[in-house]
Amino acid sequence: MHEWALAEAVIATAIEESQKEGVKEITEIKLKIGELQQMEIEVFEFALDELAKEHDELLTNVKIEMETEPAIFRCRVCGHEWDFEEAGLSEEEGEAVHFAPEVAHAFVRCPSCKSPDFEVIQGRGVLIQSIKGTG
Ligand SMILES: [Zn+2]
Repeated sequence: MHEWALAEAVIATAIEESQKEGVKEITEIKLKIGELQQMEIEVFEFALDELAKEHDELLTNVKIEMETEPAIFRCRVCGHEWDFEEAGLSEEEGEAVHFAPEVAHAFVRCPSCKSPDFEVIQGRGVLIQSIKGTG
């Protein structure tokens, strides 16, 4: 259900943007999917497809491209920023974090000062990177 809600949000935003810009047909939507976003990509793609069909004039020929946005962490103590690779997790820990990002704090420490006090500054959620269309 989660994937459907995200897909609905993407389609709704695309429609809103196209109305603002006077676009009659959306040809391409580029999305960034956060590395820590929990979802089934296949279900998400299916949901986007199904929802696009409900808006045929606008979205018949839409091509949806997805790209993974890597996770970036930032230490609240020393300001160091690092990515998943530098976090140096075991395969199992990495999988646990991907599956449930909120457990990141149990496994991930700042590589610079070892503090567990950090924030995820990139790599969560679904972002619309660009929308292309014809008027
Ligand atoms: Zn630090």
